[in-house]
Amino acid sequence: MTLTPRQAAVAHLSSERSPEGHVRYTEDSITETYGQLVFGDAAQRKHLPRDVYKRLRRTIHQGEVVDPDIADSVANGMKDWAVSHGATHYSHWFQPMTGATAEKQDSFIMPTGSGTAILEFSGGELTQGEPDASSLPSGGIRATFEARGYTAWDPTSPAFLRHSPNGVTLTIPTIFCSWTGDALDTKTPLLRSDAALDRSARRLLELLRKEGEARPGRVFSNIGPEQEFFLVNRELFDLRPDLAATGRTLFGAAPPKGQEQDDHYFATTPNRVMAFMQHLERRLWKLGIPIKTRHNEVAPGQFEMAPIYEPAAVAGDHNMLMMDLLHETAERHGFKCLLHEKPYRGLNGSGKHDNYSVGDDLGSNMFDPGDNPHENQRFMVFLTALIAAVDDHQDLLRASIAYAGNDHRLGANEAPPAIISIFLGSDLQAIIDDLIDEQAPKGASGQVLHLGVDTLPDIRRDSTDRNRTSPFAFTGNKFEFRALGSSQSIAMPNYVLNTILAEALDEISDAIEELPMDGRDAVAIEGLLRQRLTAHKRILFPGDNYSNDWQLEAERRGLLNLRNTPAALALLNAPKNLALFERYKVLSEREWRSRTEIQAGGYHEKLRVEARVMVDMAATLFMPAALRAQKKTADSILAARKALDDLDLGVQERHLRRIAGLITDMQAAIDTLRELIAADDAGDDAVAAAEVARTSFIPAMDALRAAADGLETLVADDLWPIPKYRELITLH
Ligand code: ADP
Ligand code: MG
Repeated sequence: MTLTPRQAAVAHLSSERSPEGHVRYTEDSITETYGQLVFGDAAQRKHLPRDVYKRLRRTIHQGEVVDPDIADSVANGMKDWAVSHGATHYSHWFQPMTGATAEKQDSFIMPTGSGTAILEFSGGELTQGEPDASSLPSGGIRATFEARGYTAWDPTSPAFLRHSPNGVTLTIPTIFCSWTGDALDTKTPLLRSDAALDRSARRLLELLRKEGEARPGRVFSNIGPEQEFFLVNRELFDLRPDLAATGRTLFGAAPPKGQEQDDHYFATTPNRVMAFMQHLERRLWKLGIPIKTRHNEVAPGQFEMAPIYEPAAVAGDHNMLMMDLLHETAERHGFKCLLHEKPYRGLNGSGKHDNYSVGDDLGSNMFDPGDNPHENQRFMVFLTALIAAVDDHQDLLRASIAYAGNDHRLGANEAPPAIISIFLGSDLQAIIDDLIDEQAPKGASGQVLHLGVDTLPDIRRDSTDRNRTSPFAFTGNKFEFRALGSSQSIAMPNYVLNTILAEALDEISDAIEELPMDGRDAVAIEGLLRQRLTAHKRILFPGDNYSNDWQLEAERRGLLNLRNTPAALALLNAPKNLALFERYKVLSEREWRSRTEIQAGGYHEKLRVEARVMVDMAATLFMPAALRAQKKTADSILAARKALDDLDLGVQERHLRRIAGLITDMQAAIDTLRELIAADDAGDDAVAAAEVARTSFIPAMDALRAAADGLETLVADDLWPIPKYRELITLH
């Protein structure tokens, strides 16, 4: 008997199985060269003259501008270090508005003219590159005839070496902009937003500062992104055109057993997966990415890994790199890594919890309640500002996580709903309620406590850790923005957070400055916080965010409920948003509008590709299989009737009718979707066109899927051309 490709793949997988679960790479067979891969402190010290080393450190740690005088020395030191580890090339690595990373590589080789060549890397080459970037999206900022884009070295993010099978490349994190200075990437606004947060936070801290107390030199955001992902066997992935083209299954009947029985979450990780994770961890550590946590997630085949938090832009670079390495390392272990938010219908999807806090160079965390009156006061001021910011800009936070993949996840009873609200935990909520209702929070014995004068009661971490349904939860000394999707860059959610927090901090500073000099005391500041908390308390919600009651309650409170991407994007270009980002010098109106356009266009494009893949698979894979099944069934009924003319074949005829009916449905759905694709129009208004695509494509795609999935449950297993859910979700 000849096996179909699907049967052959499954047979091959089980033949390879051993008691260890066919681990393909063990410690000994990992052949990559490891060395110090990050041009970090040790390498800098060794490869740079003393004074250059000191000045570079100031640039990195105090945000000083790179001095052109030292660029040549730094470039030379970096090159020597890289070459000593086998590097031949360098690249400027950046994050265009595709949501992925991009780079252009050049070799160090420079011909000398006498038939020989030397290895050279100048300060100019380190600090600036000029990739021909005409094919990267600019959202209309840059006409193709002036396609020049520039990359500029970001010294705050360490350069690193990337080992690939036949060579090593020195990789330099950069920002990417047009010749007019417009940002064409996701990292520039993140860096600018940190600068805005720094200015506003230090202004307010200065107003709260007690005499003799140290002044921070810099305030910045810290991010710890928890990364969820799926693994699937590569042999099976390769037989699924939908996974290959879109990262998710566009078809597939529910498996007999999916995530029922909850036997995967936190369970023992299969050996083969563990070998992959350990391999990946080693590679990440070598790149200076402090990966720490690993465990199984809720759905079969789903896992999570999380690093220790870092300053926002570095955390952003590291998360991009980690997603790259997840893909690359998975391949080596015979897996494909799925970063899509919803690879399988009916199983939990993947998110990326964005743990956010604000720290300073003195080691303080503004979201740490602290243990003395002054720290308590600072905490309450920052907390109040963030509550006000989230309430004022629900639309921005919602839009920062809006794209096609995440639409499948938000509000699907596994991820927070599309409504933005904050969970504080019972201890902190009680403090805030006291502050609003009465004149001040109360201590254990019921006495009134004043902010900045007394010490607040303890906030137990476990009181903040409970509500997993909240999109934005306080968790002890940080906030966890839980609505991000697994595949997305963390840049936009965090530049939105930094910017709206900067604005809210400034509003408090403005109010303090309006107080008379001798009236700026603890009681007055408490009054300012009370006003703001009263005005914004509607955004606080301790209950179950998955419940229907919350949808109604949120509407009563006047909170936004933007159910899908086009709805969220429709508010992006509101005047308040354009003005905010312009004022904080994070994105100009032009830069902002270009991003909205790209986000809407990306959504639309995604739907269009999914629709095309569905038509292709249904017409050329499922239809022939279904017709074969129909014919076999019909032949069998005819043969049976011929053999025994008194047989009652009613039930069998009904089965045939069911198959025939679904074939008709599927053909009709294919035709409809084809027509929609042909009629699809990008239009002048990208957001409006995305909404048209959503309302037309999605019902047609659902209808096609329903017919095909129905057939999958009726057609003989050996005729079904692609791996089924039960096969995809099994890893051994
Ligand atoms: P859980 O799944 O319980 O939320 P994890 O341990 O999986 O927690 O991940 C928590 C993440 O939060 C880690 O990346 C951690 O480094 C990060 N984190 C911890 N403290 C802070 C902080 N002060 N600021 C930002 N991120 C933080
Ligand atoms: Mg976690």
